[in-house]
Amino acid sequence: MQVLRGLSNMTTRAADKETVSETRQVPYVNITGQHAGLKKQLLREFERVIDSGQFVLGEDVGIFEKRFAELCGVSYAVAVNSGTDALLLALRVLKVGEGDEVITAPNSFVSTASCIRLTGAMPVFADVGEDYNIDPSKIEAAITERTKAILPVHLTGRTADMDAILAIAKRHEILVVEDAAQAVLSEYRGRRAGSFGVLGCFSLHPLKTLNACGDGGVITTNDERLYKRLQVLRNLGLEHRDDCVVWTGNSRLDTIQAAALLVKMDYLEAWTAGRRKNAEFYRRELAGVAGVRCPEPKNHERPVYHTFVIRAERRDNLKKYLADQGIGSAVHYPVPIHMQTVAKDLCVAEGSLPEAETQSKEILSLPVYPELGKEDLAYVVFYIKKFYRSENI
Ligand SMILES: *Cc1c(COP(=O)(O)O)cnc(C)c1O
Repeated sequence: MQVLRGLSNMTTRAADKETVSETRQVPYVNITGQHAGLKKQLLREFERVIDSGQFVLGEDVGIFEKRFAELCGVSYAVAVNSGTDALLLALRVLKVGEGDEVITAPNSFVSTASCIRLTGAMPVFADVGEDYNIDPSKIEAAITERTKAILPVHLTGRTADMDAILAIAKRHEILVVEDAAQAVLSEYRGRRAGSFGVLGCFSLHPLKTLNACGDGGVITTNDERLYKRLQVLRNLGLEHRDDCVVWTGNSRLDTIQAAALLVKMDYLEAWTAGRRKNAEFYRRELAGVAGVRCPEPKNHERPVYHTFVIRAERRDNLKKYLADQGIGSAVHYPVPIHMQTVAKDLCVAEGSLPEAETQSKEILSLPVYPELGKEDLAYVVFYIKKFYRSENI
């Protein structure tokens, strides 16, 4: 908060849309800003955990799981040590493995496809739509007799078209697992991300909207059997202290991270409201700007704007121009998964997923975190407009 207060004193006329009187810094992310107001509370909780000596699967982990399940509108949650392990354990508990195929989006963070490959299964990509999510109309063509599951990614915090995806899955008797790493609290027809698939996987990484002070992840489900099995899978296969029932690793969430998450959960609704408000500001202010397209959620969608991603003409020039004005932006993600080095063995030709490939050259994520002030947002908008007014930048 201190950081933000400092910034808002720097300029008085920034709210005036046609001029900004001084330069300022608008970083793409501001984790220090988020923690400034929480530090005392967090330290108090850390001290409590340290004094308890219960660092592994302590009470806070169970409390966090219960609250997280309620938040998503499901019966159970299992906390793990990263979003990646959430995905990996989710696929493993469903017995996805060698010889299977899992259909997913090519424009996600690489973790999504890595987890499929790590089980021994093959990722199969279906192209994405305008909403940056897997295009249901492209899924059916990707289904083979080996297809075990569909793994939609709720990219940017916007829920994929789950009605269409669930209908396809039902018709072909395949499972749906959600990569909801970016989508805590995201709603689709009144239901929350993580409640549609047989399992929902979340990341609690510092850059996600509900974030630990380090790595963390969580899996949601309504299936009691899977819930119990996941508790064993994350903990060395130990059904009881002295009996291991499955070869597996250690994917536990630290008690100290659960304690931090419980503190932050109290702020999550307000933070999310702040992101939505900032997104609305961008959408309103950038509406008439030729060269820019903003996300346009449908009436039945309530995204959480993990990222606010515009489609921008001359994207790389815009990104550099904004950086020169002190404005941070990012590209999520510049190289689709099938075009990365590791994916050579998948033999997916460049050009075969045209929408994802085109988007990767045009997308730009603008700062949207709730700690941004009005002046910060006006400053970003001012320079985007200025960029598109001058053709020679
Ligand atoms: C962050 C992220 C992951 C991985 O989560 P980690 O906690 O970093 O392991 C997986 N999928 C998506 C879409 C993500 O954004």
